Amino acid sequence: MARYSDANCKLCRREGEKLFLKGARCLTDKCAVERRQYAPGQHGQNMRRKISAYGLQLREKQKVRRMYGMLEAQFHNYYEKAAARTGVTGEELVLFLETRLDNLVYRLGFAASRKQARQLVRHRHILVDGRIVDIPSYNVKPRQVIRVKDKSKGLDLVHGALKLGRGDEISWLRLNKASLEGELLELPKRSDIPLTANEQLIVELYSK
Ligand code: SF4
Repeated sequence: MARYSDANCKLCRREGEKLFLKGARCLTDKCAVERRQYAPGQHGQNMRRKISAYGLQLREKQKVRRMYGMLEAQFHNYYEKAAARTGVTGEELVLFLETRLDNLVYRLGFAASRKQARQLVRHRHILVDGRIVDIPSYNVKPRQVIRVKDKSKGLDLVHGALKLGRGDEISWLRLNKASLEGELLELPKRSDIPLTANEQLIVELYSK
């Protein structure tokens, strides 16, 4: 499968904000957004262009897509599925992204970044309702239990991530750090999802 292989920090600098793609490093003063507050590339420091309405929509879409680590076709596919639902399209889109297994492994704090979370899932370290699921895009339903496999409970990657303490923050998730187990209690309201983005701009972009 195709994937992005250039420096992750360039993506944050392009969007002008932290996308939290590198785990613990993102919380330190080594973060590239903190150090170099301009776009990457030869002309990054001289860019003063006025951004059009289309440009705003495009940047918002790129930002969210990159945060969740997705390629364009897959991200667009989520939009199509969200638009086919009866709810507010932007909110449905965010719900699709948030209930992905890799995202929930990240939100629970078992991985320091979504990229690490995807690696944990792909390498078969994660169980859902007692069965191994190795598909990062698996859509978790309310009341399903996500657990780190017993044999994988000693992984440094998991314990390093737990130290960041992210898993304690979210009201719609239950986390048991001792047993490395979590649960999606209910589908969250948009206001309870810690995602700083205007998804309506993405809907406007794709619905043209
Ligand atoms: Fe983005 Fe993290 Fe790199 Fe900072 S350290 S630029 S937040 S990926």
